[in-house]
Formats: sequence, structure tokens, C-alpha cells
Amino acid sequence: MEFIDLKAQYRALKSDIDARIHKVLDHGQYIMGPEVAELEQKLAAYTGSKHCITCSSGTEALLMSLMALGIGPGDEVITTPFTFAATAEMIVLAGATPVFVDIERDTCLIDVSRIEAKITPRTKAIMPVSLYGQVCDMDAINALAARHGNISVIEDAAQSFGASYSGDTGVKRKSCNLSTIGCTSFFPSKPLGCYGDGGAIFTNDDALAKAMREIRVHGQERRYYHTRVGVGGRMDTIQCAVVLAKLERFDWEIERRLALGEAYRKLITEAGLPVQLITVRPDRDCVWAQFTVIVDNREALQKHLQAQGVPTAVHYPISLNRQPAYRNDASAGETVNSHWAGERVMSLPLSPDIDLATQQRVVSAIMRMTNK
Ligand SMILES: *Cc1c(COP(=O)(O)O)cnc(C)c1O
Repeated sequence: MEFIDLKAQYRALKSDIDARIHKVLDHGQYIMGPEVAELEQKLAAYTGSKHCITCSSGTEALLMSLMALGIGPGDEVITTPFTFAATAEMIVLAGATPVFVDIERDTCLIDVSRIEAKITPRTKAIMPVSLYGQVCDMDAINALAARHGNISVIEDAAQSFGASYSGDTGVKRKSCNLSTIGCTSFFPSKPLGCYGDGGAIFTNDDALAKAMREIRVHGQERRYYHTRVGVGGRMDTIQCAVVLAKLERFDWEIERRLALGEAYRKLITEAGLPVQLITVRPDRDCVWAQFTVIVDNREALQKHLQAQGVPTAVHYPISLNRQPAYRNDASAGETVNSHWAGERVMSLPLSPDIDLATQQRVVSAIMRMTNK
């Protein structure tokens, strides 16, 4: 059993992916070829955003967003410590200071009710993370940012491309198109992955889109004319071709992810396992970049599952404010739910091509241990 079965996906899409890659090899525009614009147009349409800017990774998407917003030394960005390192890493790399706010125990998402207390005159952005594939309460975060004036909201949507949220309006909207800027990743194991590194940024703001397009190519407004400091942040044409091929069945994959998540929940509940499920709020869905659960005896359970041939993973074991690179004892003392979750979360195998029998094997393997 694979933790994420990318080979099954490739087998299903092989002829299309191969054809699209070969087309790029033949036309020879390996950087900024026609597939880049085609993908940007399709992804913008998918999310409903005015602009999509592809880039070299989800990490670079976060950095380019912060740079376009002019966030740097002296500025503060509010985020969660319970995320992949890149979230806080890019805030620090931009020269700003990450301010960590604790998560909710049931969703593992940033606790919006605790954000306002952390807003200061230096706060320039809030960076909520759509962890495991579920977006945060973006309407509430946007309202908070608007109330305090000049605060931008950057969604770290690396795990949530394809997820929906209706919030206050009752109208379904897509992750990445819920705030000032949305950033996603096409790392192979993400819900929409390529075969290397890749990412994309979404916005409805023309000036920010222009800035990010320039930042992506070393701050060039036109060739060899540099109006600002940028990065080398382009996504390869071949990787764009891979994502284009994968988009063909992406709606089906999202449906599968939602159904597989429901199936796991049902199996786990019916088996009466001592496993806490992540809560999905009624106004949104979760595309399960990882199907993560909360358990008390994680280490023993992981060992037992490994012996039964069931791979698991931990997303993520140590809160960022307890990591040597981002250590902040005052904030670490406050974010108790993040530490609690870090000691207990465990992700189970899930990818669109697995079947119910595989899920039953996973749940039975957990049952065998917990019944002893
Ligand atoms: C994967 C991930 C990133 C970084 O994306 P890359 O494409 O790997 O650089 C950032 N934030 C979160 C929450 C992620 O899961």
C-alpha cells in the first residue's frame, strides 16, 4: 500500500501526459512556453480569479506575494504555527516577523477568535493556512483585516486547491479566490500536482498581478529593464503541461477525495475506534491533501500500522514556534492546541485511485491494535 499512489494516477493519464510533454519537447519553448499561459487561463477560470500567475513552487508563491505587497523589515504577519515550515519561512525571508496564533482543536485551523488580540500597527498581513485541504473562516478573517485598515490576507492554499467555501454569502467559492492573494503548490503529492516543483498565485488585483509577474522574472518590466528586486520564480513549461493533462480529470479527483474522506469517517465511526476525526465545518469541504486523524498513542500505532503494511505520516510534529529556526518561547507558551495536535496527528493513506477495500484494510489494521 502506498501513502499517496501517484503511479496509479500516471497510469490512468499516461497517454495524455506523455503527449503533452512530447509536444513541449518538440516546440522547444521550455521556459514560458504556450502551456504556461494556457494553464494560467484555465486555473484562473477554475477558481474564478481574475489573475493566475504560475511560479516555481508553493514556497516561491508565498514569497512573491509578500514581496508584491511590499512586506519587509518591521512588518508583522499573523499566521499559524501548525503548518509546513514554508509558511513562516517566507515571512522571515521577506524580512518580516511571523506572529503565531493558536489553532482550534477540532479543525486544526487558525482560531480566528484569537487573531484580533495579535493585531498591532505593524500588522501588514494575515496568512491563514488551509490545512489538510479545508479553508479557514475566510469571511471572518477578511472582515477583521478590513476593520483594521491596511491588512492584506494571503491564503496559504498549498493543500486546498479545489476546495470550496461558502461562508457568509452562502455562495460556493473556491480556495485561492477568497482573499487578497491565494497561493497554491503543485508539489507532486498535493491535490493538484506536477512531476517536479510548481505553484501558482491568484488575485483579483491588477496592480498586484502585474507586480508578481515582474517579480517572477527578476523584477523586469520588459527585457533587461529591472524596476524592482525580484526572483527567478518561473514554472517550467513541461510542468505546466503535466498539470494541464491532470486538469482533465481533476473534477473527478476532487469528488473522489470528498467521497474517500467520507468513507474513512464512516468506517472509523462505525468501528468505534478511539480516533478523533478532524471537523469539517458545514459551510465548506475538505479535499484531504492528507487524511489526518488525532490519536493518543501515535507512536505505538504508527509502528503497529507499519508492521501491517499501512504507511502513515505526521503533518506536522513540531509547532513552528518550537523549531530552532523560528523559536519564540512567549508565543510557544500560548499556542497549546498546536502542541497538543503536533503530538497526536497522524495521516492515513489517501489518493483518488484507492478503493474502499484499501480503506477497510487501514481501518481494520487500526482496529486490531486498539482492541488489544
Ligand atoms: C507544500 C506546502 C507549502 C510549500 O509548497 P512547495 O510547492 O513544496 O514549495 C507551503 N505551505 C503548505 C501549507 C504546504 O503544505
